[in-house]
Amino acid sequence: MQSVTLNNGVEMPILGFGVFQIPAEETEQAVSDALAAGYRLLDTASSYQNEESVGRAIKNSGIPRADLFVTTKLYVQDAPAEENTKRAFEISLNKLGLDYVDLYLMHQPYGDVYGQWRAMEALNREGRAKAIGVANFYPDRLLDLIINNEVTPAVNQIETHPFFQRTTDQELMREHGVQIQSWGGFAEGKNDLFTNPVLSEIGEKHGKSVAQVALRWLIQRGIVAIPKSVRPDRMAENLDIFDFELTGDQMAAIATLDTGGTLFFDHHDPAMVNWLSARRLDA
Ligand code: NAP
Repeated sequence: MQSVTLNNGVEMPILGFGVFQIPAEETEQAVSDALAAGYRLLDTASSYQNEESVGRAIKNSGIPRADLFVTTKLYVQDAPAEENTKRAFEISLNKLGLDYVDLYLMHQPYGDVYGQWRAMEALNREGRAKAIGVANFYPDRLLDLIINNEVTPAVNQIETHPFFQRTTDQELMREHGVQIQSWGGFAEGKNDLFTNPVLSEIGEKHGKSVAQVALRWLIQRGIVAIPKSVRPDRMAENLDIFDFELTGDQMAAIATLDTGGTLFFDHHDPAMVNWLSARRLDA
């Protein structure tokens, strides 16, 4: 498996497995299947409410902890967030049955962001979160966080797929040593991604599926991808992307698919800010 080196030297696989929207009662099986298929990077979050199932699958796999890369995420915390963040981290770690995570991400750029980040910096210093980062930070918020804090986020996990390509955002992140990670790499199938004519034609030339072309395009851009599937055949398909390469012309053809906007939710929309901030997780 190819990997990327984060800004603090931590190695992260370039391809992993995401578990958003997998119901808790199905997650243990899905993660067990993903580990058996060969995935070693797992991406969950406290808000997905399936950390315990991820933890059980890890435990039962018998795979040495050092061979895994486990990411979880902190949900929005009220001020003062230092204590709340530490508490939320302990809850996640307990649910996962681990004594450290490889990557701890601030899930949304809301709440007491600075308090949350200071607590995450402390967890990082203690070695309990080997790397810390953010998700859903647009360039303005990301730069503000970088300028006004000690630790630069190792990762920014953002919506990135052929219809929302984030090229200028990626450039800014590169300048500041922040690794871009894609969420929704298939746009969850929106815009008929899986039958898109440009992606289909490229796939036919390589004997690969649209899903494989979309993932290959991400990793060729140096973007970490975490496709989600509950189907073992698709898990294997999504891993099988290291034996072909997209040409410059094919990368350019895919570049034309960019709409420059989100297909999910606009983090600048007051109604969305309200909804995401008002939501509070139980313990
Ligand atoms: P996604 O990976 O873009 O798409 C998942 C969908 O594609 C599922 O419906 C899946 O169906 C289908 N699929 C998977 N492989 C396929 C294949 N080879 N051919 C056809 N269909 C296929 O969506 P996502 O789950 O939203 O994003 C990926 C991960 O990113 C998440 O699981 C989560 O870990 C992370 N994420 C983070 C945030 C954030 O705010 N930080 C937000 C969203 C997601 P089946 O399961 O039925 O195969």
